[in-house]
Amino acid sequence: MCAVKRSSRTLQVRGRRVFVRVDANVPLHGERIRDDTRVRAIAPTLADLRARGGRLVVASHLGRPKGQVDPTLSLARVAERLSELLGCVVALAPDSVGPAVEARARRLADGDVLLLENLRFHPGEEQNDPSHAAALARLAEVYVNDAFGTAHRAHASTVGVARLLPAAAGPLMHAEIQALDRATRDPDRPFVAVLGGAKVSDKIGVLRRLATQVDALLLGGGLANTFMANAGGALGRSLVEPGQAETVAAVRAAAAASGCRILLPKDAVVATAIDPNGATTVVPADQVPDDQMALDIGPAATMAYLEVLAEARTVVWNGPLGVYECKPFAQGTLAVAHGLATSAAFVVVAGGDALAAAQAAGVADRMGHLSTGGGATLEFLEGRDLPGLAALPDARA
Ligand code: ADP
Ligand code: MG
Repeated sequence: MCAVKRSSRTLQVRGRRVFVRVDANVPLHGERIRDDTRVRAIAPTLADLRARGGRLVVASHLGRPKGQVDPTLSLARVAERLSELLGCVVALAPDSVGPAVEARARRLADGDVLLLENLRFHPGEEQNDPSHAAALARLAEVYVNDAFGTAHRAHASTVGVARLLPAAAGPLMHAEIQALDRATRDPDRPFVAVLGGAKVSDKIGVLRRLATQVDALLLGGGLANTFMANAGGALGRSLVEPGQAETVAAVRAAAAASGCRILLPKDAVVATAIDPNGATTVVPADQVPDDQMALDIGPAATMAYLEVLAEARTVVWNGPLGVYECKPFAQGTLAVAHGLATSAAFVVVAGGDALAAAQAAGVADRMGHLSTGGGATLEFLEGRDLPGLAALPDARA
């Protein structure tokens, strides 16, 4: 589906200005970076390009300024954090395009790093405006895209500029493509998907696609509730998404046609409220009392899922199986995370909450691949072409 892309490791960068598109879209709390995971993730990419003599022009978006300058969404804090991580001065340019920024870029020496201001301060970025892409391209001689999380967007910095300069995928991008490709193209079997989370409507494309690819689909969370409600189950006050009958039927039909088993939880942990100190009971998952909510898969369901996962050779996991943020309802999700960490399967964990759950279980570093692409990861799993990938040349090109 997606050929391996030319790697930035094969690019000659010494003495050349390299436009590096990164994902430094960190959550801010006022003036502070609340979580610097994304900045730490890109630091090795930049350190490697510096060590090889590149002159780095680094670009990212931050938040949703909608094409206008918004000082609260400046990349100034990111420049400071990058300076600390790289052990060199990372200057922040006053803008992402224009003569003054071009002059700054031309003055860079080998190993220097200039961070452009928030790309989305210009409407031309999200519109992939050709003249805006040309303005970005004037800043550099080669292009590296290491922002997999924006690969599903055709923006000036992800597509436009990639077509104007010799281009390559950075190491984070490369790792994402390789792992997602390995999981979905001719995977070792049994291939099992674990899908949970809140809403069916967030996951329609992934559900439909994986139902045609995997040997078993293990469902949990609000997703499973919605499947069971559509089969006539009593779900009480559980999270059930209305209007999904057609999607559920389509997923069931796709699964039946390709010999994929759909497993729903046999039992559920129920309560009247999401309360860490409230009473909980275990009931058959399709017989939830009227005043209760199914908030986690039960012990029998957990055992059954772990048995299937123990046989698996490839697993894609997206979405927690219960309200894992609240301890009494985290057991199913944590047990599955531990089961995946110790299994022989190649495991891809995708989705912000599934990643957070793997971290909470203390097993994130034992998974085959942690996909941080969010919407881009889901679109890849849906089998869609991502414009940011399409714009990069294949490895042999
Ligand atoms: P991911 O980020 O991994 O894609 P989602 O964002 O789709 O996952 O879903 C995560 C949310 O789903 C969590 O906030 C969790 O509390 C919620 N959730 C999971 N199971 C249930 C449930 N049974 N009832 C209500 N909410 C649930
Ligand atoms: Mg989420």
